[in-house]
Amino acid sequence: MPPFLAAVAAIIGPQHLLTQPQDTAAYALDYRRRYQGLPLAVALPGSTAEVAALLQLCQAHQVAVVPQGGNTSTCGAATPDASGRQLVIGLRRLNRLRAIDTANDSITVEAGMTLAQLQQLAADAGRLFPLSLASEGSCQIGGNLSTNAGGLAVLRYGTMRELTLGLEVVLPDGRVLHQLSALRKDTSGLDVKQLFIGAEGQLGLITAATLKLFPLPTAHATAWLGVAGSQAAIALLSALRQAFGDRLTTFEIMSQACQQLLDKYHPGQLPFIQPWAVLVELSDSGDSQALQQQLVDWLATQTLGDGVLAHSEAERQRLWQLREAMSETQKRDGPSIKHDIGVPSSAIPVFLAECEAALTRAFPGVRILAFGHAGDGNLHYNISFTRPDNADLFEDEDSVNAIVYELVYRHQGTLAAEHGVGQLKGHWLQRYQDPLALQLMRSIKQLLDPQGLMNPGKWLSALGDE
Ligand SMILES: Cc1cc2nc3c(=O)[nH]c(=O)nc-3n(C[C@H](O)[C@H](O)[C@H](O)COP(=O)(O)OP(=O)(O)OC[C@H]3O[C@@H](n4cnc5c(N)ncnc54)[C@H](O)[C@@H]3O)c2cc1C
Repeated sequence: MPPFLAAVAAIIGPQHLLTQPQDTAAYALDYRRRYQGLPLAVALPGSTAEVAALLQLCQAHQVAVVPQGGNTSTCGAATPDASGRQLVIGLRRLNRLRAIDTANDSITVEAGMTLAQLQQLAADAGRLFPLSLASEGSCQIGGNLSTNAGGLAVLRYGTMRELTLGLEVVLPDGRVLHQLSALRKDTSGLDVKQLFIGAEGQLGLITAATLKLFPLPTAHATAWLGVAGSQAAIALLSALRQAFGDRLTTFEIMSQACQQLLDKYHPGQLPFIQPWAVLVELSDSGDSQALQQQLVDWLATQTLGDGVLAHSEAERQRLWQLREAMSETQKRDGPSIKHDIGVPSSAIPVFLAECEAALTRAFPGVRILAFGHAGDGNLHYNISFTRPDNADLFEDEDSVNAIVYELVYRHQGTLAAEHGVGQLKGHWLQRYQDPLALQLMRSIKQLLDPQGLMNPGKWLSALGDE
């Protein structure tokens, strides 16, 4: 074994170092199968001290590091390059509960715990950890932090950044930043932990986090509603907010094309197909029947299309499954050019109309699948063509993106609302991000990782010099 790998094995134990292609294969390919890498090896450390020793060793040997959580990134952020020289550090063994403080509504866990495990721990303690994604069975807390993950309840509870109280981070040179504070207020200087949230593993490796917990809701009112158009959907969002305040937890929209696709792969499951469908959920700490009645009474005062209310937990889960089936269903249907864009909610209808018109002009027969978290302005906007087998789809990716992102930024939006930038969107960020913001990002990268060893090839290290 080469001396570097022997030193890695000495730190983590030889059984936790993967070098054989059959063992490293799952770490070398991204979720969407767009990026095939070739890692030098995969190291699975079991403690913060081991991570610190590994990063020190990598720095001494000038070996680049790719932190990897659940490997559910949709933009190739956790995939090594094909050089065979990058060490993947997988966090799955670092998955312990360190502390839970229900009186303070906080929990401290290690970065390799899956989101579903954290949700379960919180529920077992009679609390809610509200981050919720379709990938929650696989994605890890470190990955959620490093992408500033959003998901299905951002409208009420915010993204991962807003759910974070403290972090423990190993810097590229092996020093450990101890900021596992459980405080909600702290004005003692700059909040440096924020740098690592959304950094996609390019400034350091997160080993643990202290996160906020919330009361576990006891009541839910969940409805699947049909509306005449996206304008009507956004008007409904505004009216629901006025009527129910922060009891409105979820407001997800789905275009007709999405509903038709779901119907194709899950026949008979959809209650109806309408120009747009909306999944609405209210939650509070009272009684479900009472909350459902309030929603029914309120809906009766509105002019809407068809609607279905969940009367039981099983019916509620069925409605949620329809929404969560969207990602998997698209995957079954074939590749698409994916966008994870955000615009102010109020701009969604005009953005959708302008973008559809521009894309149809440029690509007659284009198919647009638009769905997502309209409550916080975040849309999944996925494009495919009606050509046989979507032939040459990705050859047109840049032209499609130029149209979509131009309109996104015209409406003061973002090209990466929750999935991050990774390998997929770095060059677009350079075009649209404020030049001074880019310069500050470069300076921070240079300060923390002057040798550029942390997750190279992803957007921050790809920014290069001005
Ligand atoms: C079906 C499906 C649905 C999804 N839905 C959503 C959604 O609703 N909302 C949403 O926000 N995302 C969603 N995603 C995207 C993805 O699940 C999230 O980005 C998730 O947060 C990634 O977590 P992970 O552990 O899989 O990270 P990975 O994919 O392993 O890594 C993501 C990035 O984080 C870095 N990283 C991982 N762990 C660490 C660490 N401990 N320290 C430093 N850097 C680290 C990696 O280097 C990489 O840059 C979805 C993905 C899928 C496949």
